[in-house]
Amino acid sequence: MLTPYRPEPYVDFTQPEPRQKMLDALASVRGQLGRTWPLRIGAQKLQTDKTIASLAPAHHATVVGKVAKATRDHAEQAIRTAAETFKTWSRVDPDVRARVLLKAAAIMRRRIYELAAWMCFEESKSWIEAYADACEAIDFLDFYGREMMRLGGAQPVTPYPGEENELRYIPLGVGVIIPPWNFPLAICTGMTSAAIVTGNTVVLKPASASPVIAAIMAEIFEDAGLPPGVLNYCPGSGGEVGDHLVDHPQTRFVAFTGSMEIGLRIFERCGKLAPGQIWLKRTILEMGGKDCILVDETADLEAAAEGIVAAAFGFQGQKCSACSRAILHQDIYDTVLAKVVERTKKLTIGDTTSPENFYMGAVIDEAAYKSINDYIRIGEREGRLVAGGASDQGPGKSGVTVPTGGYFIPPTIIEGVDRNARIAQEEIFGPVLAVTRAKSFDDGLDIANGTKFGLTGALYSKDRFRLERARHEFHCGNLYLNRKCTGALVDVQPFGGFNMSGTDSKAGGRDYLLLFMQGKSITERL
Ligand code: NAP
Repeated sequence: MLTPYRPEPYVDFTQPEPRQKMLDALASVRGQLGRTWPLRIGAQKLQTDKTIASLAPAHHATVVGKVAKATRDHAEQAIRTAAETFKTWSRVDPDVRARVLLKAAAIMRRRIYELAAWMCFEESKSWIEAYADACEAIDFLDFYGREMMRLGGAQPVTPYPGEENELRYIPLGVGVIIPPWNFPLAICTGMTSAAIVTGNTVVLKPASASPVIAAIMAEIFEDAGLPPGVLNYCPGSGGEVGDHLVDHPQTRFVAFTGSMEIGLRIFERCGKLAPGQIWLKRTILEMGGKDCILVDETADLEAAAEGIVAAAFGFQGQKCSACSRAILHQDIYDTVLAKVVERTKKLTIGDTTSPENFYMGAVIDEAAYKSINDYIRIGEREGRLVAGGASDQGPGKSGVTVPTGGYFIPPTIIEGVDRNARIAQEEIFGPVLAVTRAKSFDDGLDIANGTKFGLTGALYSKDRFRLERARHEFHCGNLYLNRKCTGALVDVQPFGGFNMSGTDSKAGGRDYLLLFMQGKSITERL
């Protein structure tokens, strides 16, 4: 009998044992940098002329690894292989499919420090952020495996005289899995494992900024006993390979997590019938956010400041759930702002592959570095810079220096920001916090709800009736009361957003696997 699911515990890197294990893992991964990973189509492992180089964000000169780059022809081959393999994989007993996930979870658990170390190099995640990413991947595998065992058999229906009735869930077909780079193991594993445990076969197009950790995930599935052709690993450019996979008539569904712009593009393209296509493509689209923490005048201000800083600057603000807006009641505005600035100025920043165990690393790539710095300059016109500042033109007027050689941006705070300012409305996806003053609790709630997104939000308050009102009126998929708005755990806080944050699929929740299946009702007259 299986033990009940429970989230994988974190470790404390101030303790000697986890610290030493992490240092050993970083040294081991350092020795493996630069190798090339093949495409995986069916049983074939293909090297290609062109490759995608994954560069370390904190140290441009370091090539973390290279992956073979798929062309349109490879994408075509991958879809056909997945379609062929679907004929057999869809008929495999759901419990057997579930056990592949449980085995993959066990392998990841054994390799957890190494997986975390790869993410320190490829993503510039801090040690704990990288470790937590790997824990979440394990959680998805453990949870979805158990969920499939629950959903695999006949489902309860009301008995009817003279008939035998049943409802069972069957897979959809070939899925295209398109993850983002920011939770490169967790989200990639979560979307992929949900699709395959439910009996579908997939083509995985990993994010171009994090293809190495995705290649390692594909290897782990193979080691866990997944038959060839169920998971086809196909890195390539979004425009070329991505569009082809999305548009393909044999694609039955697309599971995407990423920006609103690309999500909308996929949504639109999936709505068009390709010649020969005989179904409506299903889309599972999880997109961006403009998440906030609202603090009223009754709140524990120290706890609120701590929550804001952790949620705004953990992993350099590159979480869809990151707090990019702090909305402070006017009576406590100055006090909380001062506390937030004071805490922020103590954060350490540097190459997270070093023994220093820095709190913040570099942002993912050059495009992000430019875009975030541009937003900081926009923010300086829209409010008052009180911490950090743009880092692409030297120390600048903020006087803040950051390490060189990588895409480092200091944690930046801009206060006095109007609710409709660009930095209060647009997703920046970096370490930039906009602080807005609210006249009252109602006004604060209005500001909180005043964007096109609706992913996460938090309220700090000691007022019972405001907390209750927030449960109903704070419109976001993941609401937190008196704690930060990041750090959702699998099956503890099922995750997904409203409005332009996506289709609210609630990844890591008990309804999630149903999105990858269709229900078949079968009646036999007795
Ligand atoms: P992105 O630029 O939208 O890319 C996401 C994925 O889409 C990547 O694999 C990308 O491939 C691919 N892609 C790009 N163009 C495509 C096309 N034409 N057809 C098919 N696929 C295409 O997002 P990102 O920068 O990786 O991730 C950050 C975004 O994800 C943020 O907006 C964040 O809020 C959001 N996010 C949301 C959640 C959530 O649960 N709601 C969780 C995490 C992140 P390439 O890398 O090759 O371009």
